[in-house]
Amino acid sequence: MKKHYCLNCHHQLKADVCENCSFDNSLDNLNSLSEHEIKRLCYLQLKQIKSELNYAYSFLIGGLILLVIGAFFFGLSFRFDVIGVRVFTPTSMEFIVSMISLVCCLGLLTLFCIKFFYNTNRKKYFEEIIDSVRKNAKK
Ligand SMILES: [Zn+2]
Repeated sequence: MKKHYCLNCHHQLKADVCENCSFDNSLDNLNSLSEHEIKRLCYLQLKQIKSELNYAYSFLIGGLILLVIGAFFFGLSFRFDVIGVRVFTPTSMEFIVSMISLVCCLGLLTLFCIKFFYNTNRKKYFEEIIDSVRKNAKK
């Protein structure tokens, strides 16, 4: 089933009336609004969704930076022993730092994915409404 979102606050709808802002999203009420008003509401939501997507991209960038730092310290955790052979030392500070940054990286990338898919679905929904309003206006 296709998900529906509130035109007033882009909250996911379970019923016609939004749980979050109690805006009436039923067809009767939407038909009573002018095309201009519907478009205005959609553009308002799209604007907010866009800024949330930008916020999500900052998680992506932070995650990638931590990935580089983690990989760098992971490389450093291979130390030379007394005879000059590189040995992996899991007890070293470098290894601990690399693991911490890799875990944070994973967390940030997960947050990015969640925010990205969450907002992309909403973005598509509102763009479709704007498209359908446009098509109806041409008829
Ligand atoms: Zn709402």
